[in-house]
Amino acid sequence: MTRILIIGPPGSGKGTQAERISERLGVAAISTGDIFRANVKGETPLCVETKKYMDAGDFVPDRATNKMVRDRLSESDVEDGFLLDGYPRTTAQVDYLDEILADGNQRLDVVVQLTADDEELVARLLGRAKETGRSDDNEAVIRHRLDLYHEQTEAVVATYAVRGILTRVDGIGIVDEVTERVILAGQSFCLP
Ligand code: AMP
Repeated sequence: MTRILIIGPPGSGKGTQAERISERLGVAAISTGDIFRANVKGETPLCVETKKYMDAGDFVPDRATNKMVRDRLSESDVEDGFLLDGYPRTTAQVDYLDEILADGNQRLDVVVQLTADDEELVARLLGRAKETGRSDDNEAVIRHRLDLYHEQTEAVVATYAVRGILTRVDGIGIVDEVTERVILAGQSFCLP
């Protein structure tokens, strides 16, 4: 049983690594960004409003995000473990996640932070923009998302470091190598 969180700046490859690691561990990956992207295709006012936040590189408000995570974590496929990708991103979300997990007598086993240099991340994301056409991959929005990571999400990383469940992994390199680094780092925290 594994409950793992992957955290990292935009462009650090956390989505790719989340998929690979969750497969290796046999647990479901829960990516708030993916769920939002799938949900905003509609025309309802909520979809349109959520998409505005995403396109601007801003955080979607907690009232929507927290509920979505609580609902997803109450599904039966994650009773025995999960991999969270992209949540929590603020210390308020850490508090909310703590509540959800405490309600189910659960806790995170390990938090893996993928690290990378800002300029490398901007270059990577500009490259990805050409391939995928993601609407939040232009330079101004990329830099805003990086600023938010530094301003808000690094405090989340610090919280888990104090709790003694944080491990840092260099996110630069060949995808396979980074996956091996994550698995190896996680093994010191009871990952199989
Ligand atoms: P990601 O794919 O993780 O980069 O997320 C894409 C976008 O989804 C972010 O820029 C936010 O607009 C939104 N999002 C994803 N996760 C969260 C979260 N935990 N809190 C608020 N907004 C989020």
